[in-house]
Amino acid sequence: MLDTNLGKELLEKDEKYVWHSMKPYNPNGTLVVEKSKGARITDVDGKVYIDAMAGLFCVNVGYGREELAKAAYDQMVSNAYTPLSQGHVPAIKLAEKLNELLGGDYVIFFSNSGSEANETAFKIARQYHQQQGNASRFKILSRYRAYHGNSMGALAATGQAERKYKYEPLAPGFLHVSPPDSYRNNEDEYTDIFSIPSVKEVDRVMTWEHSDTIAAMILEPIITGGGALIPPEGYLKGIEATCKKHGALMIVDEVICGFGRTGKPFGYMNYGVKPDIITMAKGLTSAYLPLSATAVKREIYEAFTNIGDYDFFRHVNTFGGNPAACALALKNLEIMEKEKLFERSATKGTELLETLQARLSSHPFVGDVRGKGLLIGIELVKDKETKDPLEVQLINKVIATCKEKGVIIGKNGTTVAGFNNVLLLSPPLNISDEDIQVVINTLVEAIYQVT
Ligand code: PMP
Repeated sequence: MLDTNLGKELLEKDEKYVWHSMKPYNPNGTLVVEKSKGARITDVDGKVYIDAMAGLFCVNVGYGREELAKAAYDQMVSNAYTPLSQGHVPAIKLAEKLNELLGGDYVIFFSNSGSEANETAFKIARQYHQQQGNASRFKILSRYRAYHGNSMGALAATGQAERKYKYEPLAPGFLHVSPPDSYRNNEDEYTDIFSIPSVKEVDRVMTWEHSDTIAAMILEPIITGGGALIPPEGYLKGIEATCKKHGALMIVDEVICGFGRTGKPFGYMNYGVKPDIITMAKGLTSAYLPLSATAVKREIYEAFTNIGDYDFFRHVNTFGGNPAACALALKNLEIMEKEKLFERSATKGTELLETLQARLSSHPFVGDVRGKGLLIGIELVKDKETKDPLEVQLINKVIATCKEKGVIIGKNGTTVAGFNNVLLLSPPLNISDEDIQVVINTLVEAIYQVT
């Protein structure tokens, strides 16, 4: 532990020099971390917190895993860098391993962040159609409330206006449709998947925009940062069939849902679909080093081979697929398998969800408690009949109260029409039973105390 004066000095320098992202998410001041282990982080004043957000939904195997540091160290010593215009062993092994997890035949393009993985997917989708002789297909559909990244294309795909309007014009050719919302629109009631309103809307937009202009649709299996919106059971199958009907590619953004977050290797596996392109980041290395990937079905990749000198995929990424990051990712996946973390996420997630539902559902402001695996959302409303969102000041107070009591929780990122009213939990997949209990008790106490 640092002495208190040193902690104070560091906080002052942090305030002075570091430009933080997402200031409004820290209603109780910035937390400057000195060290971390398992699901626990310790700040510069020695206060210990349970990180029920796994950083930004990403430290899936928990903090302080020496095996991961060693895997990266060993690789740096033996070969620190080769660009992927050439090749190196950890990238080959990782691409093979990802194929095993995906259970299909995919070719993998490596980058560094979720945003880049999505940009890569958009460029592949557009060029793929061009090389099939369908140059008119450039439009990309996505959903309101979804987040897909901070770069100009990924932000254009993002459906959260407040993150975008200061930076427009963004990349052209992006269209938005409504997300599924079982809580507000009762979409779970439809037995025919093509009758689900949010599926019908995609069909309608693709039709009226003209199928021949649509390149792809990008979607998370579950909208995560936009409010843990669990889709109706048949929704993804409906979207898959609608994309096929219109000749559009289905891109699934697994940046958060991947690597066990929803109790399966990838989130889409909960819903019986086979996406054309899958993007992933965060949990791929449990965020110990930057690495992301865009997995592309072989038949799409083949449109980029055996063609003219100028028609290959003209997309270079200096750091993408860095050898140490790939070696670390392999070790990270080995840990997940050895410790059965995907299965653990499913069983602990169900227990956590059921306990929170039992303890919170009768609270007058708790509208909905939902989740899959260790991704949980608690939607707070002013009134259970009207479902009007609870004021953000109260949401922030719940988060600040949890923090005071030593538990870090999150909330969703949209602010349009007050829809930043969903508390989020996304702990490391190996969070101990004891820590889960502390998270539950603290959160329930905080909600009752504040509201
Ligand atoms: N897609 C989703 C679903 C995300 O949640 C995020 C980041 N939170 C991204 C893409 C972008 O990832 P990155 O911040 O690594 O660029």
